[in-house]
Amino acid sequence: RLYCTNEINRAQSAKRNRPMVTIFEQIIKREIPADIVYEDEKCLAFKDVNPQAPTHLLLIPKKRIPMISDAVDSDQELLGYLMLIARRLANERLQKGYRLVINNGPDGCQSVYHLHIHILGGRQLGWPPG
Ligand code: 5GP
Repeated sequence: RLYCTNEINRAQSAKRNRPMVTIFEQIIKREIPADIVYEDEKCLAFKDVNPQAPTHLLLIPKKRIPMISDAVDSDQELLGYLMLIARRLANERLQKGYRLVINNGPDGCQSVYHLHIHILGGRQLGWPPG
């Protein structure tokens, strides 16, 4: 798929060319607009600008963790917290099921280097992912 190829190209160049401040930090600071659906002192959730399913949210910690492979033991509580918030946001919207995804690094198709959990649903999802 053309979109998929573009996503892979973006992911392959994203780590090399990554900016000092990511677009997601700019969303946290309200420097660029986003369709925010949830916020508390630790995290923010907003609609993905290029949705891959009828519901496609991104949940991010306010703390800057570039990628899940950078997480450290002291992030345990925050990571557990994010999973529970992801569950809550998904349960409210997607009673028939959903998928939580974390892409990591170029081969994992990560294109924004601020940790984020994709919340996807609203259609029958396939497996395996591409
Ligand atoms: P990744 O490929 O890094 O796992 O996911 C990054 C996601 O962020 C992609 O699904 C992409 O569509 C989304 N995204 C990139 N830039 C923006 C933006 O400026 N606003 C929003 N809402 N989503 C974005």
